[in-house]
Amino acid sequence: MLVIDDLAVEFRTDEGVVRAVDGAAFSVGTGEIVGVVGESGSGKSVTAMSILGLVKPPGRRVGGSIRFRGRDLSQLPASDLRTIRGGDIAMIFQDPMTALNPVVSVGRQIVEALRLHQPKLSKDGARARAVELLGVVGIPDAPARFKQYPHEFSGGMRQRAMIAMAIANGPSLLIADEPTTALDVTIQAQVLDLLRVAQQETQAATLLITHDLGVVAELADRVVVMYAGRVVEQGDVTTIFTAPRHPYTVGLLESLPRLDRDVDELYPIPGSPPSLLDPPPGCPFHPRCPLARDRCRTERPELRVVGDGIGDPTHRSACHFAEELESTEVSR
Ligand code: SF4
Ligand code: MG
Repeated sequence: MLVIDDLAVEFRTDEGVVRAVDGAAFSVGTGEIVGVVGESGSGKSVTAMSILGLVKPPGRRVGGSIRFRGRDLSQLPASDLRTIRGGDIAMIFQDPMTALNPVVSVGRQIVEALRLHQPKLSKDGARARAVELLGVVGIPDAPARFKQYPHEFSGGMRQRAMIAMAIANGPSLLIADEPTTALDVTIQAQVLDLLRVAQQETQAATLLITHDLGVVAELADRVVVMYAGRVVEQGDVTTIFTAPRHPYTVGLLESLPRLDRDVDELYPIPGSPPSLLDPPPGCPFHPRCPLARDRCRTERPELRVVGDGIGDPTHRSACHFAEELESTEVSR
């Protein structure tokens, strides 16, 4: 469905060129949910924004391809991308007001989204479908809610309305960027349920961008871990959680809060992500890596299949010593 290959995105700043995405490559299959995780600045959001050409200047794609259903989106004119957006590819944002217009009633916005991409749909047909969609995402009393404006909705209801709009045209790809980040735990759980509903309703391939491995564990089939603009590990969710083969992923897992673990058993990764203005030579993780040795400081590790014979046979890691992690205990 979606194949991203060797994607590179740069931002020209006064201080120099920041390579926010540096050779990222991964794919999302039909009906599959792929979680892209990493700290802020890892390039995960920029990667997601690149798909629909939404990276704003001074950022620009400088290399690679983004193929969606066989077409390279990075070669399409902006007008074609606008047509695809909200139709075949839909986005779900952290802040629903990014997608909702404050001065148009929620129902009318969904009707307009439907008719924009399905011109043959009658007004009444679109209206009925919009009410139905509000019901699908769990908005009670949908016919009355239809007429209300976004400010008359609670935060959670706005999330639901945005998701209704995103799935209105039966997208084949859903992109959700930090959909739960700003929400409290209860609402987070509801939004996760809702994303599940949205995915089941549309059977869309889903790209879930998040810094939260807990969200990935809940929803994703596969995981892509990004660090300093690169993919450092990828594999199916079980393999990543039970047999991680990159020290950065191990660090993320050890800093994951869990019900069965006290706060003093959490181990945040020491240090911070490198400046992408002047990234470290060799492995970009070496300044923070507990296993770093000389080779790591000079030789850049490529993403390669992990040869440990455990779990997902397509499991990949960009660590010179991935196989040695087998004996490293992850305290989880
Ligand atoms: Fe750590 Fe070296 Fe592996 Fe990089 S290549 S993650 S520095 S062990
Ligand atoms: Mg982000």
